Amino acid sequence: MSESSDMEAFDNVIIGAGPGGYSTALRAAELGRRVALIERDATMGGTCLNRGCIPSKALITATHTIDTVHRAAELGVQAHVDGIDYGTLRDYRVHIVETMTQGLSALLAHRGVTVFRASGSLEPASDGAGATTRTVRLVAAPGQTDVLRSDEADEPKPQGASLELHATDVVLALGASPRPLPGNPFAGALIDSTKALELDEFPASAVIIGAGAVAVEFASMWNAAGVDVTMLIRRDRVLSHWDRRTGVTLTRELVRQGVKVVRNTAVRHVDTGANLGATVHYMQGGPSGANGANGTEHTVEAEMVLAAIGRDPNTDADWLEAAGVRRDADGYVTCDPLGRTSAEHVWAVGDIVAGHALAHRAFEHGITVAEAIAGLNPKPVDEASVPQVVFSHPEAACVGLTGREAIDDPRFNNVKETIYPMMGNSRMLMSGVGGSMTVVSGERADSDHPDTPEVLGVHIVSPVASDVIAEAEQLVGNHVALSDAARLIHPHPTFGETLGEALLKADGRPLHTR
Ligand SMILES: Cc1cc2nc3c(=O)[nH]c(=O)nc-3n(C[C@H](O)[C@H](O)[C@H](O)COP(=O)(O)OP(=O)(O)OC[C@H]3O[C@@H](n4cnc5c(N)ncnc54)[C@H](O)[C@@H]3O)c2cc1C
Repeated sequence: MSESSDMEAFDNVIIGAGPGGYSTALRAAELGRRVALIERDATMGGTCLNRGCIPSKALITATHTIDTVHRAAELGVQAHVDGIDYGTLRDYRVHIVETMTQGLSALLAHRGVTVFRASGSLEPASDGAGATTRTVRLVAAPGQTDVLRSDEADEPKPQGASLELHATDVVLALGASPRPLPGNPFAGALIDSTKALELDEFPASAVIIGAGAVAVEFASMWNAAGVDVTMLIRRDRVLSHWDRRTGVTLTRELVRQGVKVVRNTAVRHVDTGANLGATVHYMQGGPSGANGANGTEHTVEAEMVLAAIGRDPNTDADWLEAAGVRRDADGYVTCDPLGRTSAEHVWAVGDIVAGHALAHRAFEHGITVAEAIAGLNPKPVDEASVPQVVFSHPEAACVGLTGREAIDDPRFNNVKETIYPMMGNSRMLMSGVGGSMTVVSGERADSDHPDTPEVLGVHIVSPVASDVIAEAEQLVGNHVALSDAARLIHPHPTFGETLGEALLKADGRPLHTR
């Protein structure tokens, strides 16, 4: 591609306006950089705001209301669910998403970020390995004839079918997409999470393939709304990569609420056929144990089949290779702890970097990369203290190491797992759901105080685990001594006290528990 001298120059050009890209843009603009943000979608916010965190939590807010009404009689309140007005629920979801995406656009404009609606790609470095600037090529986004440009709060202005920008630094924030079942593309009643969030109505019955956060959230949400939900999972519990007790407890709660959980399965094929609905063919059990591959064949039918088996980074475009951006075998962009890729002046943030694919991690990547580019010498993102959250009912959340991981890690000595019996907490008792709380503590050989136990990990199932985990993150991320953590006071009576009580117990001073 030829380079024209009248090409517009920016300090930072960011491709992708999800949490990783927009947080980079906001922080870079705050630091006085001239920033261009390129997004092919019609709205800002990427997966999280448009087809992930926000619309899913809007729907979950609605189905939590159903859960509350279902319990009302037990508490002496006469109420019942007459049904769901799907038009109103859709309007509510759309309103929440639009408010968030429009608010983000306004904030970007306020910070002086120039937004281009276009598909962006990075050109190979024209000045060789020691490149001092990079060129980003913009072409009209799918379904558009022009690249559109917005400065400040102005109406977007057409810029022609393509455009090139100069950048001192380029940040890749391309995000990820739902992974299809091998040899079974999404079609008809076999849907991904994006389609599932946009359904006009919840299905009468659904099979959910997968056991991770997205699968569990849909199972919990749809089940609360009266959908006949079957989960096909590979192992013996959901969230099988988490602390075992957490996964077992959440599986038990889902089953208790009516979700059919079929364990040790291996899905073979989904027939979407000519008729409505779909049939899932799967293997279960058998001598190989864990994934059922050598077991017996079964089928299950449902109106909708949601495959939620993971997400793949959006890194298969040829231009990445040509521009010198290296990826690992799974397609994740390889970079140093500050986000520098193998290509000069090219950085990566968010879901295209291997690790927990979560919005709050992407935010921190964005802030760190913007500061590193500006020469502020930030600390790398602490990938070990990224909290994980699942917004089921009850919720699950964790941060740091499991007991097993800490025991297997030679940096730690005298590792201990402390289990707090959740029903000793009055708010848990009132909630009507079961839960679990595990605190992992141990001595860190490479610390200044190698004989002082620290909080290494916290694993929770509770109605508000996603809030309680924020405190646990401070303890784990700041390597707080267990004895100091156990001195912190928790307001009474709260769900947060479960962590306080567990810390006291771990410190050898249990209060309301043995
Ligand atoms: C159903 C669901 C629920 C979720 N719930 C939560 C939750 O509750 N909490 C949480 O923390 N995380 C949640 N996540 C995960 C979260 O959405 C992602 O971790 C987060 O969006 C990643 O941010 P990102 O910026 O890396 O990528 P994305 O948000 O995927 O954004 C990437 C953007 O780049 C754009 N893009 C890609 N290539 C180009 C190109 N060449 N040119 C122009 N634009 C391009 C894409 O259009 C997209 O808008 C959820 C995900 C799903 C699917």
